[in-house]
Amino acid sequence: MDEAVRGRFQRELLALKAEILAAGDITADAAREDPVKVGNDEDAQPLAEMSQSIASTRNRNRTGVLSRVLAALARLEGEPESFGLCVECEEPIAAKRLELMPYAELCVDCQRSQDGPRTKGGRRHLTDFR
Ligand SMILES: [Zn+2]
Repeated sequence: MDEAVRGRFQRELLALKAEILAAGDITADAAREDPVKVGNDEDAQPLAEMSQSIASTRNRNRTGVLSRVLAALARLEGEPESFGLCVECEEPIAAKRLELMPYAELCVDCQRSQDGPRTKGGRRHLTDFR
């Protein structure tokens, strides 16, 4: 990945960070803490419980995205050569995936084996380019 491409991703990440922070309900500090803790100390009224738990799940997701955005920006600053490489297997992450999620840390294969049930076949880099 050359510097111009990294610069483009950096601008996208900065825009994403600004967009999330502009909503005002989460902070960069919150994102540095364990995302699971965020929003847990609310005194929920029984009737409002459902919508509050939906809202806090949404905040949690956005906090998670924000913390990944911050981590990606830190990588771009600290070790730019590692940006765009999977943190698990160090294979390049597909350009299409990075364009959708410039904060992606895992390639599709590693993400899949983290998310879903493990397949016994192992790596599929050679046949799966998505
Ligand atoms: Zn990987």
